[in-house]
Amino acid sequence: MPAASEGYGAPTLGGARTSLSTLGAVPLSRSQGNSYASPEFRNRYANPESWDSEPGHKLDLWELQKALRPYQIDASVRDCGTEPAWNPDGLGIALEVRRNGEHVRASWRGLKRCDSVHACPTCNRRISLERAEVLQASVAAHRSARGDESLLMVTLTNAHRHDDSLAEMRRAQPRIWVYVKGHRRFRAWCKAHGGLVGQVRATEVTHGINGWHPHQHVLLYLGEDVSDTAREELEALVFELWCAGTIKYLGGRHLPTREHGVDVRPCYRDTYLCKMGLGLSMEIADPGTKSGIGLHRSIWQIAADIVRYGRPEDIALFQEYCAAMRGCRQLCWGRGKNDVRAIYGVTATEHREPEGEHWVFASLSEFEWSRIAEAGAERECCRAAEEAVRGSPERWRRVRNRFQLKSKGRAAPPRAPPLPETAGVLTITFGGR
Ligand SMILES: [Zn+2]
Repeated sequence: MPAASEGYGAPTLGGARTSLSTLGAVPLSRSQGNSYASPEFRNRYANPESWDSEPGHKLDLWELQKALRPYQIDASVRDCGTEPAWNPDGLGIALEVRRNGEHVRASWRGLKRCDSVHACPTCNRRISLERAEVLQASVAAHRSARGDESLLMVTLTNAHRHDDSLAEMRRAQPRIWVYVKGHRRFRAWCKAHGGLVGQVRATEVTHGINGWHPHQHVLLYLGEDVSDTAREELEALVFELWCAGTIKYLGGRHLPTREHGVDVRPCYRDTYLCKMGLGLSMEIADPGTKSGIGLHRSIWQIAADIVRYGRPEDIALFQEYCAAMRGCRQLCWGRGKNDVRAIYGVTATEHREPEGEHWVFASLSEFEWSRIAEAGAERECCRAAEEAVRGSPERWRRVRNRFQLKSKGRAAPPRAPPLPETAGVLTITFGGR
């Protein structure tokens, strides 16, 4: 990634602020808070129709990751997927292809991963899928144990202005929730409704005309079904306590309105994963959709806009977000006896046995990998290998000759599937990890 390591990509001290001068953004004083957006930029928010709306093609995660690399403020995120990982098993870097029915997918194995859910699109997707699986399993187990209406989704927000600090607000909100949860009136309400079995909380952040809008989604696992009346009662109570906590931990000007401050509703099957930040957040980054652009954009919509328009304001927002979200957990489960994962014995199936067929198309030395990376041909190799598995090996032959990929195979495990005959490539079967 030679281009990425220059210019905007230079490591920045102290997060977003230092790097902004290189982007032509005007540095603002501390008292002006975190709003790097110019007045013109904010005006554009008010008038979504003025935004360019060329349909553009849908970005895939890998393209998004690559395009964001120059703007990443953390070196580990910048290098994610570009450098060899330490491999105690000596398997090195390999191009793998999996086929499951019609679905063929190639990927690189043995590269360093940053594991950043906030800044890295590919790691976000990988980790979110694992966590979504755990969350879904816990919800299903709780529904069957305690009833369909025993789960509540609580959404908590605060009033904010364009010059409020994202870092400050996103740190204060969990503290306010702890205050609400620990209050005797909240505990009494839970006790009257079968007790609070567990909870899981997520922080969601969007950005709009009034700046950053961090809010909390808390999924409450209650001991029994909750009626509509009881739910409304809880909403009024949580609103009261949330306001008291806001004054205590964030300040009076962040007091929410009754309308927007607190929302308690049943946990709908189709939306709770999205609310907990594990849904199809990447699909929202589809630049073809205009919804949400005018008022609130998610971080992946901002990221997609960086790729499309390269506006310095968007870059500044993205970097500010990455700095402010450092150390923020994606999901915060109840602890000890309130950890529903332990209660229902649900865990992520790590190192899942790959389904379907599985090939290793090439096994590379670091030097060979660096040649592919320097040529920016990582994705091309994947596409070529996928085509080979689908039955047209010409492109793969060209790629193989271009980078002189040689066979470095290991013996195939006995249960490995046969190689696709048409591929005509060195294929080493690799399974069981
Ligand atoms: Zn990553």
